[in-house]
Amino acid sequence: MQQRTVITGGAGFIGSHLCDYFVEQGHDVVCLDDLLTGAASHVEHLLGNPNFTFIHYDVTEYIHVGGRVDNVLHFASPASPVDYLEYPIQTLKVGALGTHKALGLAKSKDARFLLASTSEVYGDPQRHPQPEDYWGNVNPVGPRGVYDEAKRYAEALTMAYHRYHGVDTRIARIFNTYGPRMRLYDGRALPTFFRQALMGNPLTVYGDGSQTRSFCHIQDTVRGIALLLDSDQHDPVNIGNPDELTIRELADEIVEITCSDSEIVYQPLPEDDPQVRQPDITRARQVLGWEPRIDRREGLRMVLEYFQRAVNQEAEQQNR
Ligand code: UDP
Repeated sequence: MQQRTVITGGAGFIGSHLCDYFVEQGHDVVCLDDLLTGAASHVEHLLGNPNFTFIHYDVTEYIHVGGRVDNVLHFASPASPVDYLEYPIQTLKVGALGTHKALGLAKSKDARFLLASTSEVYGDPQRHPQPEDYWGNVNPVGPRGVYDEAKRYAEALTMAYHRYHGVDTRIARIFNTYGPRMRLYDGRALPTFFRQALMGNPLTVYGDGSQTRSFCHIQDTVRGIALLLDSDQHDPVNIGNPDELTIRELADEIVEITCSDSEIVYQPLPEDDPQVRQPDITRARQVLGWEPRIDRREGLRMVLEYFQRAVNQEAEQQNR
């Protein structure tokens, strides 16, 4: 029988790729998004499809979906540091109230539930790389606390619904992901560097650029999430690419790949910016048989075309 899958935040970066994936898999997909940081254009191409429904909705309010539901994927949330600092209350609300409503929907429909959690639950980690049994080092009252604590609370609520209501839950701890549909101005390092390099502007590296991240291509991320949904794993699973590099190295690679002559400039490091980040994906390998397939350099070259198009569109709009 055809599966029916509700995706909150379905017009966001990761959410919209999940909509594509599950429509492709033959699911009937219901996408809920209030378009705070998502964009209708991300799912526009699916609108005529009988297996896709878009509902403009804020999931911190009671969620009503008529009929059967087999899966609820909760991906609604501002997710880039710039976004969640601009929308701190909305971020806390969607992590807390939104997760509650999405879990309530899953419970009432007897559906599987998957929470989009994050490597931010590890904060500025004192264990490296980060396995799932590391509890993290988060400043609850710092500026990033609004996202980190919202997601930590969301994980706690998800486990409580699993333990006390028997909801069939999954938790994906998603590390830095990149791919088409990232907004040029979402403030994250990778799209910012592509935009700056392609526009011939200086690349803004924060701090001395020695902080590290590990970037996973969206195709690998989506495949990992789909495998997790199909698994019986209720404990959190890291989904990320362990290939770690410094932010300075990322900037250099993007300058090279874009054949840009932009220089690199240094700006102050944001408060509580994690010094290192690298997923330990032993659990994902063992329980999902998953690991990333797309090497970073290959992935960066794959995404170049998208950023070039986005920058051209931006230039056209400015010239109008
Ligand atoms: N960063 C940077 N320049 C920018 C944007 C971000 O050097 O224009 C740094 C940021 O301080 C962090 C890293 O790049 O150390 C990754 O930041 P991002 O916003 O992509 O996400 P995070 O991994 O911190 O959630």
